[in-house]
Amino acid sequence: MKPRVLVAIVVALVAAAPLVAPPFYVTLLNYIGLYSLVALGLVLLTGVAGQTSFGQAAFVGLGAYTTAVLTTQYGMSPWVTLVIALAITLVIGYILGIITLSMGGHYLPLATIAWGMSLYFLMGTIESFGGFTGITGVPPVSFFGMALTQESHFYYFIWLVTLLALWCVANLLDSRPGRAIRALKQGTTMVEAFGVHPGRMKTAVFILAALLACLSGWLYAHLQRFVNPTPFGINQGIEYLFMAVVGGAVSVWGAVLGATLVTLLKTWLQDLLPKLLGEAGQFEIIVFGVLLVILLQHAREGLMPFLQRFVPSPKRALPEAGDRLQHRSMPAAGEPVLEVNKARKTFGGLVAVNDVSFDVKAREVVGLIGPNGAGKSTCFNLISGALDATAGSIRFMGQELTKASASAISRMGLGRTFQHVKLVATMTVVENVALGAYLRGTKGIVASALKLNRADEAAALAEAMRQLQRVGLAEHAHDPAGSLPLGKQRVVEIARALAADPILLLLDEPAAGLRYAEKQQLAQLIKTLKGEGMTVLLVEHDMDFVMGLVDRLVVLNFGQKLAQGLPEAVQADPAVREAYLGV
Ligand code: ADP
Ligand code: MG
Repeated sequence: MKPRVLVAIVVALVAAAPLVAPPFYVTLLNYIGLYSLVALGLVLLTGVAGQTSFGQAAFVGLGAYTTAVLTTQYGMSPWVTLVIALAITLVIGYILGIITLSMGGHYLPLATIAWGMSLYFLMGTIESFGGFTGITGVPPVSFFGMALTQESHFYYFIWLVTLLALWCVANLLDSRPGRAIRALKQGTTMVEAFGVHPGRMKTAVFILAALLACLSGWLYAHLQRFVNPTPFGINQGIEYLFMAVVGGAVSVWGAVLGATLVTLLKTWLQDLLPKLLGEAGQFEIIVFGVLLVILLQHAREGLMPFLQRFVPSPKRALPEAGDRLQHRSMPAAGEPVLEVNKARKTFGGLVAVNDVSFDVKAREVVGLIGPNGAGKSTCFNLISGALDATAGSIRFMGQELTKASASAISRMGLGRTFQHVKLVATMTVVENVALGAYLRGTKGIVASALKLNRADEAAALAEAMRQLQRVGLAEHAHDPAGSLPLGKQRVVEIARALAADPILLLLDEPAAGLRYAEKQQLAQLIKTLKGEGMTVLLVEHDMDFVMGLVDRLVVLNFGQKLAQGLPEAVQADPAVREAYLGV
């Protein structure tokens, strides 16, 4: 069955439900819709971007209370309060985001717990908010003078909003910023190398999740027409997290699945258990917990992957002829591209790179070799901006790099691969490569969510396809990157670096872990790229791999430059033979 057909069936079922289902189920479906909105934000934030928040219920409460207070006490229209609630959420989300997300680790979960608890008690203690009894008399939402007072009418409103939100988030995930968000779990070094600002991106996702929760709260207040603090406590915050985790993050529909399962399970357990056990205890909470543990034991990724097996993902036809992206003008052969001058890096007392100088000229392939621990990777990190040099100068195309960030260096025309492959395993090969073209696109989160990014997107994907053809992996474009053997994954990394349109390609041990035939193919690819005008700096441990491939070699040992020159001369150098080959 095609996904489109499936979506149509879901929409038809949603539309028909209030006409056939008993009122009790309509109420339940209303809640499922509201919960789905919150869970959707968490699928994005926790499932996709890897950031945990326990405080979503507080954002729901913020939306509900803002509208309840402003409509009942200041007579504002619900539509005005919606804008105000979203604006307040934006500000709070931004502040919480910039404070905690840059710290990383467990600070975000802790901060969201603190935020969730403090808002809960605030709502309960402020007198004009009605304390723990809450606020009654919240007016209904009206459309052109028609008030939505009936639950079955409000049902359509909730599900319209929920389906629209699902559409927007699905659009977002399938776009330039979406690919960056999906790559965040890979750690900051990788995304920074392609010009993504991970802190800003995580904050944006956090805000987006908070806005969805706020929207859910606003709807809730006008559905119930009454608010009190109970549904916005930390318990509910944990339950939202359950929904997102149970559903799973592989698709936005995981949010609906998770919200549905958790809601139905809790309802049924509440009905069933007292009948089975003969008394009303809180057994449902225990049974619920046990069921969740069992489920997560067997399906770490949530339940969505099970369902997705029955819906083969479509092989999207890619835009063959998107607009061509702008290309940099390449320097002429022999022009200096990289000039490393007395670069030094110390780690405490250890001098990892000891006043090393060398240069790379346009259209050269230079090999930076040396035994393990010689300082090659550190040197590589100084050039790519992953580390700051202690002293010395590194110039790229005449510009000083020593204080520039990784993403600024990427913008200047340096493309890199990683010694330990850093692809997003669940993204397709072509999506991974398109991430490389991040800085060549312009469309942000809002434009992408509303699908106003078609030209941008077509150009990025067409460019990614071109690079895949260039490296000979076009037939794998739609495979998940994680399904490829290591040798091919390394080549995908090269294609991703090429998609950034670099002047200099920096490869860190590209042959590590490859079989002989794969090494031959890789060497051939590097030669082809050189023939096309690319400049390459190859950091390599394997001497045999670089012989016959590079124009020049630079040899490091114990952080110092030991020798440089033509490969044969370097290989014959007695000092190199002693240090490197142990002869
Ligand atoms: P290579 O890539 O040539 O094998 P590296 O550049 O990784 O060598 O390491 C050079 C030296 O610097 C080694 O002695 C290593 O232990 C040390 N080193 C590398 N990174 C760090 C770090 N972040 N902190 C402390 N020491 C480091
Ligand atoms: Mg290394």
